Order: sequence, then structure tokens, then C-alpha cells
Amino acid sequence: MQILDGKKVAAFHRERVERKLGDLLEHHIQPELAILRVGDDKPSALYAGSLQRVAQSVGITAEIYHKDVSARENEIISMIEHLNEKKSVYGILLMMPMPEQYNVYRIVNCISPAKDVDGLTDVNIAHVFTGQPGFVPCTPRAVMAVLDYYHIPLVGKEVVIIGRSNVVGKPLAQLCLNRNATVTHCHTRTRDLQAETCRADILIAAAGKAGLIRADMVKPGAVVIDVGINRIDGKITGDVAYDEVAPIAGAITPVPGGIGSVTTMMMLENVICGQTPTD
Ligand code: NAP
Repeated sequence: MQILDGKKVAAFHRERVERKLGDLLEHHIQPELAILRVGDDKPSALYAGSLQRVAQSVGITAEIYHKDVSARENEIISMIEHLNEKKSVYGILLMMPMPEQYNVYRIVNCISPAKDVDGLTDVNIAHVFTGQPGFVPCTPRAVMAVLDYYHIPLVGKEVVIIGRSNVVGKPLAQLCLNRNATVTHCHTRTRDLQAETCRADILIAAAGKAGLIRADMVKPGAVVIDVGINRIDGKITGDVAYDEVAPIAGAITPVPGGIGSVTTMMMLENVICGQTPTD
């Protein structure tokens, strides 16, 4: 069994980011990532802070723009429009979840698609589906980056994805389809989850349910990618019962140290290197 080490993959991409950033700095361009946070969601505050630290450690300016829950929708949109116009801003990240009172769809789609580094706007989502270059959401990109780093081919493989969110499951399924995998999408209404997962050559869990994937749900030798991040008693754990699945799997990502480690670097790569192919 091979451990798919996200830290190695992140280090590989960090080098690419640093090289490209060096080119920009030589031309006196100091790119900025604008992180927009509305309200007081604690996990997103923590993630914003950690993203800012990693960005700064690479040499990218990362500013956090915070609005409290009393901010009017138009105020947030004005701020986005200002950031759209600001030349030094290469990327705008709107932290989720936003407080319920806002029309998130409307706000997200005010981000210029050329600065939408988390691939949330309709324009970038469409590019994933049509196979045009665009900004691909960072977590699905991280999964592809891990598969590519370890030379795991997708052509003709049975890929089973658990989860169908707009930011993870759906774009990931499309990326796998673009690489000629046969993709099955599972969710809470899937009748027999185990029957589906047992067929997978590559099983990707993105459900947000700790320990959902047990040993008897995995085909021997399968590649198991755990996207889940769950906080149990102060510890981070994935969707896969790692200790029992690892001996059966051909390869597996740990949590922590797997996809999460790569996701942040994908964000910075999107900021510095721009839009990427979606196939
Ligand atoms: P989400 O919006 O809550 O979606 C979860 C999906 O999983 C839904 O489609 C849901 O089905 C499905 N699901 C939940 N429980 C299930 C079950 N028992 N059986 C089958 N399907 C089930 O979550 P998300 O934003 O996609 O994130 C998924 C996980 O990835 C979370 O743990 C999140 O923290 C993690 N995440 C990790 C990273 C990273 O960098 N590693 C980045 C983003 C998110 P329905 O559609 O039927 O409800």
C-alpha cells in the first residue's frame, strides 16, 4: 500500500508558485490575494488566517477584508467591484459559508471570472464542463494534482465519488470525466452505497462524515482519496476509517496530510499562475 503524501505534492507545487512569483517580482509586480470574509464563522476565520500565513510565507500579499453581519449586500458587492478593479489584486476569495440573509449566488457572480480563484462563478463552472481553460475549484484541483503527482491514470477507470456539492463533488466528477474515467456519483439518496464503492478503482470520499468508508466498502487494491475534514474531540479526521482501509487499499491519502495540504497550494497557484486547463 502506498501513502499518497499531500505534503510532497504541495511542496512540488509550491516550487512552481515560487518560480512564477519570482518572474512577477522581477517585473515589479507584487500580486495580492484578497480574502473576503463576512460574519463570524469560526472555521472560515481560522482558514482565512492560515491561508494568509501560507501565502505570506511564499511571498504573496494576502489581505483579509472583513465585514460584519450587519453589512448590506450592496456594500459587499461594492467591495468586490473595488477589488475587481484593483490592479494588484490577482485573486478574490469569498469565504464560505456566508450568513443566511445574503444572496450568495448574486454576490459570488459579482467576482470577476478573471480573479475568481476558487472557481465559484458561473463562468468558471461552465468552463469546467466545456473543457475550456478556467479557474477550477481548489479542492477538486488538489485531488487531480495528487493523482497526477503519483502517476495514477484515470482513463477507463471506475471512479466513485461520494458527495455532490458544487464546490467539491460535482466539479471533481466532471474533471474525472474529462480524463475519460467512468464516473459514479453517490449521495445521501444512493440506495446501496457499499455496492457502488466496492466497484471503484478510485474511490473519492467527500461527504463530511467521519469514518463513513469502512474496510468492507473498498475493493482490494483500490486508490482511496479522502477529502473529508471532520473535527472529532478536537482532532481532525477524514471520511475514511484509515486504520482498517489502509491495509486493503492500493494507495490512500491520510487525513491530515492529504488533500487538505494540497488545497491551499492550489489556491496560491491559481493566484499566481492564472487559469488552468480543465482536462
Ligand atoms: P457538503 O456540501 O456538506 O456535501 C456533502 C455531500 O456528501 C452531499 O452531496 C451529501 O449528499 C453527501 N453525503 C453526506 N453524507 C453522506 C452519506 N452518509 N452517504 C452518502 N453521501 C453522503 O460538503 P462539501 O463542502 O462538499 O465538503 C465535503 C467534505 O470535504 C467535508 O468534510 C469538508 O470539510 C471537506 N472539504 C475538504 C477540503 C480539503 O481541502 N480537503 C476542502 C473543502 C471541503 P446530499 O447531496 O444528498 O446531501
